[in-house]
Amino acid sequence: MVCEGDAGAMSLFDGADLIVVGAGFFGATVAEHAAREGFRVAVIDRRKHVGGNAFTYVDAHTGIEIHKYGPHIFHTNSGEVVDYLSRFTGWVPYEHRVWTTAGGRVFPMPINLATISLFTGRLMSPREARAWVAEHAGGFPAPGNLEEKAISLIGRPLYEAFIRGYTQKQWQTDPSLLPAEVITRLPVRYSFDNRYFSDTFQMMPEHGYTAIFERMLASPNIAVHLGVDWFSARGGAPDVPVVYTGPIDRYFGERLGRLGWRTVDFAHEVHEGDFQGCAVMNYADADVAWTRIAEFKHFAPWRGEFEKTVIAREYSRFAGARDEPYYPINLAEDRARYDGYRALAAEEKRVVFGGRLGTYRYLDMHQAIGAALRAWDREVRPLLTR
Ligand code: FAD
Ligand code: UDP
Repeated sequence: MVCEGDAGAMSLFDGADLIVVGAGFFGATVAEHAAREGFRVAVIDRRKHVGGNAFTYVDAHTGIEIHKYGPHIFHTNSGEVVDYLSRFTGWVPYEHRVWTTAGGRVFPMPINLATISLFTGRLMSPREARAWVAEHAGGFPAPGNLEEKAISLIGRPLYEAFIRGYTQKQWQTDPSLLPAEVITRLPVRYSFDNRYFSDTFQMMPEHGYTAIFERMLASPNIAVHLGVDWFSARGGAPDVPVVYTGPIDRYFGERLGRLGWRTVDFAHEVHEGDFQGCAVMNYADADVAWTRIAEFKHFAPWRGEFEKTVIAREYSRFAGARDEPYYPINLAEDRARYDGYRALAAEEKRVVFGGRLGTYRYLDMHQAIGAALRAWDREVRPLLTR
């Protein structure tokens, strides 16, 4: 049952054994498990739709499926997560490929033999390319930040061309202050494999992501209330366990200070035909304001031809108090602050903090679902059956 929330807080939660704050992948996975075991669950979300950041909808004007909060590609090595989600959706194979524009030229991304060969102007064997990178990669035996890590992985020339400007735009932070792990999300390949991800399972849900959530939350044991903020509604909540997937700093009234988040402004445009001939084009140069352009119809080629096309230019910036928090920035001061919030969270014995916002972690969808499966077994279920 889905309703938009002007009901009083009491009726929102009437009869609930469990309250779930946030209808994204973490919240929906926990709610679905609880409902299947016969518990009654009230799910609230302050947005007017389910799905969290994975929400998709069909644009009425063009018929094209849009990923409202930026393109979402499903990829994982976890058979457990695939088996679980496959209860709610069929899949279409989809291998994501990304191109990047640097200095007026186009290269495949992530960096692979084709990128290196195009960049240097000579066809290199894997051994030659490794030697070329090694020649430019010295100086950081124990890389301590994104810049040092990137240079040690791909050498300074490729770092300068493809990573420095893009990262500076995307994080609005000097790459030498960012954690090294961010760059290890990108593979470096000494082959002509130009897929963006290396995972065993790479695919798209047949009918979009929102359809998955509608099925996950369809149980009569689940009541979904949209347009309801926990901080307005919690006064009327019964004393039952809560799964909270909003920002952890907000839960505690930001009493230890605000955690750093990056938000993205998506500028949508409609054009005739095909705009860029691929799903995602990155823009590596610092003097181009946007980081990348996504063209949505290329994420679902099996849907056939469309006369028009919808693109989104992405502009990244620090999230202010009213902005959607998307990416945890995770500077050293953020990590220290988050440790403080984690200690406060440990005192909330009947609240489970989860998901990207609740644990201040850069989680992909499969990781958010995997974390929710574990949280259900280890934390939420024990609270309900105690
Ligand atoms: P969310 O989806 O953020 O859900 C949390 C929900 O809680 C939100 O709906 C929010 O409105 C609600 N909420 C917050 N505070 C409150 C409150 N006070 N009261 C009520 N409700 C509240 N992952 C991939 O696997 N592949 C990709 O290609 C990919 N691309 C991405 C691109 C972008 C631009 C972004 C931002 C993320 C991307 N991700 C991708 C990550 C993916 O979005 C997350 O893994 C997933 O959304 C995490 O689910 P979640 O439930 O933790 O959080
Ligand atoms: N990155 C880059 N150039 C690119 C693509 C990625 O410098 O063309 C860097 C950037 O710092 C980014 C990181 O690699 O944050 C990880 O890339 P991914 O695509 O996973 O980033 P996301 O869009 O999820 O932040």
